[in-house]
Amino acid sequence: MRRALTSVYRIMSNLSHASGLGYFDSFVTELAAAVDADVVLVAGRDPVTASFELHSAFPATLGIQGSRVPIAATPGEIVLQQGEAWFCDRLPQLFPQAPLFIAHRVRGYAGIALRDAQGQTIGICSLWFRQGMDSMDRVMSVLRLLAPLAGRELALSLSRTDVPAKLPLPAMDSMLAHAPVGIGKLDLQGRLLWANPAIEKMLGYREEELLHRTAAELHHPKDWLRSLACYGELVRGERSVVTLEKRYRHKLGHELWGRVTVTLVRNERHEPDHLMLLLENIDDARRHAEQLKLSHRVYDNLSEAILVCDADSRIISVNPAFERITGYSSEEACGLTPSILKSGLHDKAFYADMYHTLSRVGIWRGEVWNKRKNGKLYPQQLMISALREGGKITQYIAISSDISQTKLAEQKIATQANYDNLTGLPNRWLFGRSLTRFCERGERFALMVLDLNNFKAVNNSMDHHVGDALLREVSDRLVSRVRTEDLVARIGGDEFAFLVPGIVSRRQAEVFAKQVQGSFARPFMLANQQLYITATVGVTLCPADGSESDELLRNAEQALFAAKRLGRPLESYCASMREEVRQRHQMQQDLAEAIKQEQLTMAYQPIWDNRSGRVAKLEALVRWYHPHWGQVSPADFIPLAEEAGLIQSLGALVLWQSCRDLARLQQSGFPELQMSINRSTLEFQTIDPQASEWLRVIEHFGLEPSDIIIEITESLLMESSDQHRIRIESLREAGCKLAIDDFGTGYSALTYLRTFPVDLVKIDRSFVRHIPFNEQDRLLLDGIINIVHNLGMQVVIEGVETREQLSFLCQKGCAFTQGYLLSRPLAFEDLVAYLEVNRAGMSLPIVS
Ligand code: C2E
Ligand code: CA
Ligand code: CA
Repeated sequence: MRRALTSVYRIMSNLSHASGLGYFDSFVTELAAAVDADVVLVAGRDPVTASFELHSAFPATLGIQGSRVPIAATPGEIVLQQGEAWFCDRLPQLFPQAPLFIAHRVRGYAGIALRDAQGQTIGICSLWFRQGMDSMDRVMSVLRLLAPLAGRELALSLSRTDVPAKLPLPAMDSMLAHAPVGIGKLDLQGRLLWANPAIEKMLGYREEELLHRTAAELHHPKDWLRSLACYGELVRGERSVVTLEKRYRHKLGHELWGRVTVTLVRNERHEPDHLMLLLENIDDARRHAEQLKLSHRVYDNLSEAILVCDADSRIISVNPAFERITGYSSEEACGLTPSILKSGLHDKAFYADMYHTLSRVGIWRGEVWNKRKNGKLYPQQLMISALREGGKITQYIAISSDISQTKLAEQKIATQANYDNLTGLPNRWLFGRSLTRFCERGERFALMVLDLNNFKAVNNSMDHHVGDALLREVSDRLVSRVRTEDLVARIGGDEFAFLVPGIVSRRQAEVFAKQVQGSFARPFMLANQQLYITATVGVTLCPADGSESDELLRNAEQALFAAKRLGRPLESYCASMREEVRQRHQMQQDLAEAIKQEQLTMAYQPIWDNRSGRVAKLEALVRWYHPHWGQVSPADFIPLAEEAGLIQSLGALVLWQSCRDLARLQQSGFPELQMSINRSTLEFQTIDPQASEWLRVIEHFGLEPSDIIIEITESLLMESSDQHRIRIESLREAGCKLAIDDFGTGYSALTYLRTFPVDLVKIDRSFVRHIPFNEQDRLLLDGIINIVHNLGMQVVIEGVETREQLSFLCQKGCAFTQGYLLSRPLAFEDLVAYLEVNRAGMSLPIVS
């Protein structure tokens, strides 16, 4: 239609300044070109002779101008009767009496009546086609548009009156009024001189409103500038016709797209006279095209793969993302079925369910594993919609996104949640889950918990990286000791757990545990040091010791605890341990009560000055007499108190009683005596930074802080956070002395002594035990004493039980001795008697 309109328009504008004889020559030529007709004829009707008088013909070479042809039995006769007629093919067969058709091998025909201003048929315009036509619609629509013009011209030429056609005549009016396309006339400055109703309708103005507007007002400003340039070219004769697609402004303000074709019309003197325009509303088409373009862009640029299949599941289109994700090009994929992507990971039922859902619901969503062209599998999030027409599925559209990355991220998160970052072993949570599953399945297995001894000390004494490296190395060694079906996990800082399926007896479990412990036989090389680490294992059996995961884990930890307490490397859970736990609990309650009732008492063990042979200091040792258990060792109840949060009140009681007793002793003639008081590491966490609670007690009994020695263990120094140091500093600043207890049982104690000076170093009993008979121990002790002396600190040797030991120590220049040889810890009254007896000092029982 558009081409037809353009043709009509061109013919109209070309002919608008032509008239007279030349008119129809141009008309037939243009028309032939416009509709691809082989012959175009314009003929007048001579009613007298019942014949057509040919006015004009294309091609001119036809040589029939001016001749007459009888009307009867020709298609022209029908045209005269009915206004128009057309035949697509077989014309000679239909009109055998018309010899011209045979002579010119004409097969198709279209004709229209030409009427004068009064509507009288005065002639016809007919078109001949040498090829059969599928349809004459387009041809007829052109003819219908042109017929009024040609009719007017024919009437004019018949009457031989030559009237210049400046304004549209009534026939022309009717044509313009009904034309489905905008037609208008502009002066050379671009002012609208007239416009047909189609333009009014398109732009929303009434005729009189329109004529007062300049073209500039009716345009989108940017497009108008472009138009102006083109019109200039037209007027200057540089172009004969301009076609532009541009935006117009509707009266209501919105813009709309039009396609305008403009030609220059010249007057008889061949000077530019005005412009004719043909304007089509292409707004819908344009928007549609833009939307289509957008859809295409989306289709092409989407990161999701799109695949379109026909009803038989043949791929008919894929987008670039599909090509990128699957590795199949569009050419390769089209024509095949989506089964090329099948991973083989889903069974038939999966796909059957998918198709069933699609046919029932029309849409399917889910995760699917597919296979790329290179064979690699990948997970995708997939949505398939079935498109229907008239109830039947015509197409499937699948939109999918590759979620391998998401999956990886999910896996990573899952890994982080389930595995220990440091060692890569399952963590407590995941281990618990596996344990629960084993329990639920009623399997027989051993559960073991392994704890590193002294890990805290190593971790604190060295760089934390060393501790991490140690844990990693331990984990590697443990994993290398177990079978693939055994599960190893890190369930705490230095605690590992094993789930060992198939173990049914304690003996089996212990063999396994020993094997695991074998991995600690070799030293660990850390930070260029060889470290020997040991581990303690607690063992429990399922179902013998329990059938629930929590219970089993608790049992294993109890066994571990028992082993640690007994100083053994390995302990199996037994029912009595549960009883033990109950008892511990009971003891803690009793202890709390005893502290409250101040039923704890003190024993004091003298510390001798080797040189003067006199008691110089006392160590305060707490005592608890339990009505049922009798005398309970502080080695047992101090940890209980620490565990139960009773250590602060216990410590306060000890400090109070010790200070009270020391004051009494000083007043009864032993003014030089010092009191050494044990402090648990935990107590440093709760006292105030100035340690004023303790200093107040000392002051309360009129003692000098320098009379008090605070015994701390190496572990306090190792753990020593700044907070601990602040408190220790406060005590020293106040004048208290500081002693390190059990020296030599921890790690790198000497390193600490260098950075953390104390007054007294109490060397642990274990160093003295084999003195003087064990040469190695002797050398070791000798070394330690030397170093401590060199650091300017005094040495107390604990646990001296024999005269040989004492002799050795005196030889080495050790200043102080504590031990059963000289005195056991004594109750206050016994102590007073002891001090009285030894007031003047004694000659030490050394071997000479
Ligand atoms: P400790 O501080 O090392 O105290 C020395 C322990 O060794 C005392 O045991 C003492 O009786 C014992 N002992 C002394 N000489 C010898 C000897 O020649 N041979 C042997 N075999 N043992 C000797 P005790 O009184 O049972 O205290 C045990 C631990 O309990 C103490 O070890 C100390 O760590 C803790 N403790 C005792 N009283 C208190 C206290 O009031 N507060 C705190 N926090 N801990 C205390
Ligand atoms: Ca002590
Ligand atoms: Ca000690």
